[in-house]
Amino acid sequence: MELDTRSLRAARQTLRTGVLLGVDFVPVRWPEPDSVAEAVAESEPAPAAAAAPRPPAPVPLRPAPVRPGPRSNAPEEPLLAAAVVEAKPRVLNAAQQQKQGSLDALRAKYEKDAPHNAFVTDHHCIVFGDGDPAARLMIIGEAPGAEEDKVGIPFVGRAGQLLEKMLGGMGIRRSDVYITNVLKTRPPNNATPTGDEAAACAPYLFEQIKIIAPEAILALGLPATRVLLNTTESMSRLRGKWWTYTDPRAPEYQVPVMPTYHPAFLLRSYTRENREKVWSDLQMVMERLGLKAGAA
Ligand code: URA
Repeated sequence: MELDTRSLRAARQTLRTGVLLGVDFVPVRWPEPDSVAEAVAESEPAPAAAAAPRPPAPVPLRPAPVRPGPRSNAPEEPLLAAAVVEAKPRVLNAAQQQKQGSLDALRAKYEKDAPHNAFVTDHHCIVFGDGDPAARLMIIGEAPGAEEDKVGIPFVGRAGQLLEKMLGGMGIRRSDVYITNVLKTRPPNNATPTGDEAAACAPYLFEQIKIIAPEAILALGLPATRVLLNTTESMSRLRGKWWTYTDPRAPEYQVPVMPTYHPAFLLRSYTRENREKVWSDLQMVMERLGLKAGAA
C-alpha cells in the first residue's frame, strides 16, 4: 500500500518519537536519526501557527516575575530552553486576553491569600502557571523544584526537558498547552506535597481549570491525580484510563483527566516498560484531541 507523503512523515515522526522515549519496539525499521539531537531538531514544529491572523489589539503576555533567590555553589542544571526562560511576550487573541485577565486576577488573589503560609516552604517566588490561557490541553504537575523557583516558570528543569520531548512527540509545543502545579511554591527538599498542603492550594488550581476550560487534563504523577480525582488509588491503577475531574464547587463542570507517570519519576526509573506506558497514555490524549505526531 502506498502512503502519501504526509502520512509517511507522520508515521516516521511517531516512530522517531517512540525511539526518543525508548519505545523502540515498533516492528518497522526507518532510517534512524543520526542522533537524539537531530531527532529533536526534526521534531521541531514549523512556525506556521505564528502566521495565523490574530484579531484585536494584541496585548503582550507578561512573563512570570523572576525573583532570583540565593544561589548555591552546586553546578547549575541546564535550563530547558532560552525561549522559555527569556519568556518573550506572546501576542494574545481576544479570548486569550480575557482568560489571561482572569488568570492574572486569580494570581493576585493567590498572592494576597498566600495559602502556602500555612505550611513550610523553601520558595523564593510563586510559580503560578505558564502557557496558552485558552489551551485545549492543561498539564498539571506536583510542585516547583529548584530551577522553577529561580525563574517562576513551571517545568524548566530536567523533568521539564523530558516533558517538552513528550509534547514534541504528541505534535504540539509547550506554548500550545497550559502548565501548572498543585502547589505554587517549592517544598523544602522537593518533598511530595502532603494532603493538607494540596488541599490548601487546590481551590486555586480548580479556579485555573475553570478559567482555562481545557478539553482534557494530563495529570503528571500521583499528587496531581489524587487532587483532581479525589481518590487515594495507586498510580498503576489510575494511569492509562480516562477519568473525570468534577469541580467540587460546581459538579456540572467536568473535564476528562488522563493520569500518567511524572517525568521526574520516569527519569529515575527510565525503563522501557515505563516509557512505553507513558507513550501509550500520551497517545490516548492525542487520540482524544485529534492530534497527529509531527503535525504541529
Ligand atoms: N516537577 C513538577 O511537578 N513541577 C515542576 O514545575 C517541576 C518539576
